[in-house]
Amino acid sequence: MSETNPYMMVGERLCMDFINTVSWRESTEKRRDWFTSYPKLVDWSTHAEVLTIQQAQDLLSEAEENPSKAEDVLKQTIKLREVMYRMFKSISKKTPPNEQDLACFNESVSHFYRSLQVIRENGKYTLKFKQTDNPLDTMLPPILQSAVNLLVSKNELERVKQCEGDPCGWLFFDTSRNKSRRWCSMADCGNRAKVRRFYEKGK
Ligand SMILES: [Zn+2]
Repeated sequence: MSETNPYMMVGERLCMDFINTVSWRESTEKRRDWFTSYPKLVDWSTHAEVLTIQQAQDLLSEAEENPSKAEDVLKQTIKLREVMYRMFKSISKKTPPNEQDLACFNESVSHFYRSLQVIRENGKYTLKFKQTDNPLDTMLPPILQSAVNLLVSKNELERVKQCEGDPCGWLFFDTSRNKSRRWCSMADCGNRAKVRRFYEKGK
């Protein structure tokens, strides 16, 4: 939320942090999208440790060669992010997500899960995403997987919450023992609410 640290990560799950790449989500005037270009998406993905520095460098040169492809991936990413935002926001309010959004989300699931394969590494087997035909979207499968894991989890969905700071709109996964977390961050929205309560008391 803070403007000084553009990559605040408070979601506690990769999919939540991905959704939170818009500051002041629910404000019409202050809303600010962090993904203003493909390089910004790569930069955030590197910060989120979805991409290695080497992968990021490769993607940036690939994007320079194919600017229109990179632009398509950016658009696709933002579309998926907004679908995920609406879905998890509904879930945080204990209402089922919009069917169209779920269908759209599932299109990405079928697209990316096609590239899953079992790999043998250091004597162990792991399930990994193979490079798709469009390497520019390499950052999307792990993000999608984080959302899928959360959706199909047993008791974790009840921990998906929306920050009570208005018009913050950020989502997070509440890891507190008694599920009492209310803000994206105590330093930001939590503090603003405290200050507001203080002044209201004084009036
Ligand atoms: Zn907040």
